[in-house]
Amino acid sequence: MIKGTIHVSIDICKGCELCIAACPQESLALSEQINKKGYRYAVLIKDNCTGCVNCALVCPDAVITVYREPKSAKKREAVEA
Ligand code: SF4
Ligand code: SF4
Repeated sequence: MIKGTIHVSIDICKGCELCIAACPQESLALSEQINKKGYRYAVLIKDNCTGCVNCALVCPDAVITVYREPKSAKKREAVEA
């Protein structure tokens, strides 16, 4: 299985939870902390992300960048969403 991970641009997240609902791996949750806007933000809480890109596609503010790491590749590859 392809291993994935995400980067969240914390300070532009508005905590709408769309990405959390869209993740088939249940890998996402809202943070306990708040960002500069006063919102809890999306965080990766498990190590089971597959890089499916669902979260990035549903995010209305392009907060999430998805990376996939194929087993044979040394470099991470950013996935266009
Ligand atoms: S890329 Fe897919 S598996 Fe990974 S956090 Fe986003 S929705 Fe979940
Ligand atoms: S969908 Fe986007 S704005 Fe909404 S909680 Fe997820 S990362 Fe934040």
